[in-house]
Amino acid sequence: MMLLPKQSCKKVKGIVISCSFLLLSCAPKESLRVNLIPKPAYMEFSGGYLKVGSNQQTSKGESGSLTAVIDSELASGPEGYELVVTKQGITLRGGSEAGLFYGQQTLSQLLTPDGIPCGVIKDSPRFKYRGLHLDVSRHFFPKEEVMKLLDAMSYYKLNTLHLHLTDAGGWRVQIDKYPKLTTDVAFRTESDWRKWWDGHDRKYLPEGTPGAYGGYYTKDDIRKLVAYAAARHITILPEIEFPGHSEEVLVAYPELSCSGKPYQNGDFCIGNEQSIAFMNDVLDEIIELFPSEYIHIGGDEAGKQAWKTCPKCQALMKREGMQSVDELQSYMIHQAEEHLLSKGRRLIGWDEILEGGLAPEATVMSWRGEEGGIKAARMGHDVVMTPGNYMYFDFYQADPKTQPYAIGGYTPIKKVYSYNPAPSDSLTDGEIQHIMGVQANTWTEYIQTPEHLEYMMFPRALALAEIGWTPQEARSWKDFKPRMNAHIPVLQQMGLHPFTLSDELEVTMHVDTLKKQIEVMLDAEKYPEEIHYTTDGTIPTSLSALYEGAIIVKDSAYIKAALFKEGQLQGSPTEKKVDYHRGINKPIHYNSKLYKGYMAGGMNALLDGYRGGLTYLDGRWQGYLNDLDCVVDMEEMTDIHKVSIRFMQLTGPGVFQPGQVELFISGDGNNFTSCGIVPTTLSNTNPDLLFQEYTFNGDWKARYIQVKATEVNNGFIFADEIVIW
Ligand SMILES: [Zn+2]
Repeated sequence: MMLLPKQSCKKVKGIVISCSFLLLSCAPKESLRVNLIPKPAYMEFSGGYLKVGSNQQTSKGESGSLTAVIDSELASGPEGYELVVTKQGITLRGGSEAGLFYGQQTLSQLLTPDGIPCGVIKDSPRFKYRGLHLDVSRHFFPKEEVMKLLDAMSYYKLNTLHLHLTDAGGWRVQIDKYPKLTTDVAFRTESDWRKWWDGHDRKYLPEGTPGAYGGYYTKDDIRKLVAYAAARHITILPEIEFPGHSEEVLVAYPELSCSGKPYQNGDFCIGNEQSIAFMNDVLDEIIELFPSEYIHIGGDEAGKQAWKTCPKCQALMKREGMQSVDELQSYMIHQAEEHLLSKGRRLIGWDEILEGGLAPEATVMSWRGEEGGIKAARMGHDVVMTPGNYMYFDFYQADPKTQPYAIGGYTPIKKVYSYNPAPSDSLTDGEIQHIMGVQANTWTEYIQTPEHLEYMMFPRALALAEIGWTPQEARSWKDFKPRMNAHIPVLQQMGLHPFTLSDELEVTMHVDTLKKQIEVMLDAEKYPEEIHYTTDGTIPTSLSALYEGAIIVKDSAYIKAALFKEGQLQGSPTEKKVDYHRGINKPIHYNSKLYKGYMAGGMNALLDGYRGGLTYLDGRWQGYLNDLDCVVDMEEMTDIHKVSIRFMQLTGPGVFQPGQVELFISGDGNNFTSCGIVPTTLSNTNPDLLFQEYTFNGDWKARYIQVKATEVNNGFIFADEIVIW
């Protein structure tokens, strides 16, 4: 993607590089469209283009030049640059080699068939850590694919590739001292994760077994990758998992587990000194391979069960005066940090390393929401924000019905883009300084091929790049959307296989209780977009109303809306039932227990007019770990014709339909009469995302309306709204 031919550059005294650069003139042009991603901190275009041609084409024009200078005094810092394009040529000043490199990336994005637009760009990153994570354990990706990703990352100014090198899926990096890690547990019986992990033959196979699935990077592979990344100003951050997620290690070296037997444990036996020796030995070889200042030691999701009964672990706890097994985990992380610091490196780990006491200089990667990151920043530790709800690229990016199987979740590109890693409402200015940056994670349980990997990463990685680079106040979805659309063919030209964006529409609502109406807004990922809609539940056509602004609903509407291209409906229409119903904002009393983690809009969530979307994490679905039993007070005797409540089901994370819903009415709030029962019609073994609306029709007069939904699957039930007419 480099615009500037390297061989024509001359280095003078190590700081000034001058290149022959050919141009015709700065020809004025109208309707300038610059599609830079990430958007620079400052840019101003004066109009016109610097024409760039070959030697032959310059015969009748003047010739200009590119001057590239490293200026360590540059105000925008080492990764910053200043770019000036004029009729006389191009001047690029970089705060360091990295700054020059980023300036060149910007130049190559600026190149259009008309030339390079004349103007000034002053640019530097918002965060020094701009990371993309790749899990190569659950599925192995060859180094050629990693190089392809590094190319794309550098084009978008991402500077860290976090490689998740070890996990139950297989060990992926050669370690001389422990050869069995790659000869014995880098291959397995089955490629497909679900078949392997959930099947009864979950076994590793020796390297060379015919039909075995897996692979690993030799030390030579790693050196090549590290050099390839370094040439693009990218650091490869290696992750080796301790003490959990280590099933594969404990098959190769069962003596490091509490049971001492293979296929029994996922956590190292911390009471065994050999475990600490193994960790230090492996880290030594990792340090030798990877120049990264930070080394990631995992630290997430240790089961900790075996430690409770293991004599060695219990003896260590007793000796060190530990109160809980959390402190055992903390002990191992402390040992790792001490070892890394002694070698001049720094420790980074997932936010679970906060449990049982954080190692003194550890950096925290916050994945279970932002709370871990906020807590660590308040303690004065550096933090990389990578919360699952925004930053997981293994989550669905569109309606699951239209997508290849994924682990769950829902992080469409607009949601990703909306993330701000430095929440100024939760942290002081001083604490915010500890937010080192942002990262997106691509776990690969359900991602087997390079094509599928690229599909999950792109274009979401472009949103990530802009979050990491562009000042928060200079970012907006409206501005990003057209640029992101323009980059889809750019990604394809790089040989990548991006998701080409959804045909679905995003529906957002604003419930206005003063005007007693609901405003419904529609948005598309695609640009430019032509949206037609109906409000009576019929399929829209190109003759239906054109969406030009909020749709106002004062009673009931069944909105169906769709994207159109050249008169043709794209995909399937997006549907939303909208009711400014009679229960909105009425008092509600819960007889059953609420679950604090999923309060959605709070006590009023079921009567706020807001319907939920495709994920129970969208803040509209209220979740309960038991029956839902609530009473709505209509505040006066009211004629009721219809009551309905909707529940979601997604069995993977344990969200089920209630067994049944029963409706009661009362005039006095004491004596209730049943109006009927509606049972669920959905199977609790169907793994798809499903919804059921439980509707009661009748002709009642009542002040109080009671809804009872029974939880029968020992999981969650989630409802979004009780609609009362
Ligand atoms: Zn143990």
